[in-house]
Amino acid sequence: MTDKIKLADGAGGQLMDKLIKQKILKYFGKESTSAEIPLSMLDDSAVIDDIVFTTDSHTVQPIIFPGGDLGSLAVAGTVNDVSVMGAKPIALSSGFIVEEGLSIDIFEKIVNSMSKVSKQANAPIVTGDTKVVEKGAIQEFMINTSGIGKRTKLLDDNIKEVKRYRSFDKRWLLDSNLKNGDVIILSGNIGEHGIALMSFREGYGFETRIKSDIAPINGLMDKVLNVRGIVSSKDPTRGGLSNTVNEFSEKSNVGIILGEDSIPIPTGVRSACDMLGIDPLEIGNEGKVVLGVVKEKAEEVLKEIKKHPLGKNAAIIGRATDEIKGVVLETTVGGKRNLHKPIGDPVPRIC
Ligand code: MG
Repeated sequence: MTDKIKLADGAGGQLMDKLIKQKILKYFGKESTSAEIPLSMLDDSAVIDDIVFTTDSHTVQPIIFPGGDLGSLAVAGTVNDVSVMGAKPIALSSGFIVEEGLSIDIFEKIVNSMSKVSKQANAPIVTGDTKVVEKGAIQEFMINTSGIGKRTKLLDDNIKEVKRYRSFDKRWLLDSNLKNGDVIILSGNIGEHGIALMSFREGYGFETRIKSDIAPINGLMDKVLNVRGIVSSKDPTRGGLSNTVNEFSEKSNVGIILGEDSIPIPTGVRSACDMLGIDPLEIGNEGKVVLGVVKEKAEEVLKEIKKHPLGKNAAIIGRATDEIKGVVLETTVGGKRNLHKPIGDPVPRIC
């Protein structure tokens, strides 16, 4: 029997890593060697000739949910992947695949959401494509968005400042840039997007008032870059915070210690996770950023994030260190546990 693709192979965890490395990079990885940041680095975006370029397909269920919809998700997700490289998003594409039978009103609502978020992020949708497929070929509506971004003086000045404190030979905010001593900052509450979607689906037997955190974070990124001292940044989407810090640790070849108490988890998210037996650290977010910052600038960066509407619950959650390997969570009761990349996603179809 031949192996078949499983849902978990696309869920952002260890199984997806394996599929990408064994079945995709084997073919595509070799074609992208002229890129400054090639596909094989598996960062949030690629960089070629100083153009930051990323793409994302969105297959969320349901397509309208508390705090957002497929359209706001598609635009914010792509804007954020460009922004966390340290670039300014300048244009987006929109590729629609619609299932025959979708209500025109719902279609229009989602397109309108895309327009609103794109205006908010100041990243216009400049090219697109629409296909309609037979009923049953896909579920309702899927959107692919690509985005391009460019280098700004904010990023250059940020890098100059980093170099005042430690050696730094990178030109973008990559997952691989952390070093011993850097501080990890999270911009706000985690778990809201995944739990909002899950609690809204039928059959889980619980309700919460939690809304998705979907938001374009490029405005916030501009603010923190202006404070300067940022070395890495990543949006904790599929696989959650756990996946993000493990990517930092693996790619930077540095240990990361996180303080469990310092990670902002809303009560509603925590109780939903307890009930479902899932880890809030593994749940996807759509309006958050995890930053690596030189320690001398950490407090100043945190203060700036807290001033921003998206950053009220921001916190310093850990530090990079050569004392350990991998990611260690120091627990409330003084214990320590290794934090691994999730195998799959505890909440499927959320992005
Ligand atoms: Mg990302």
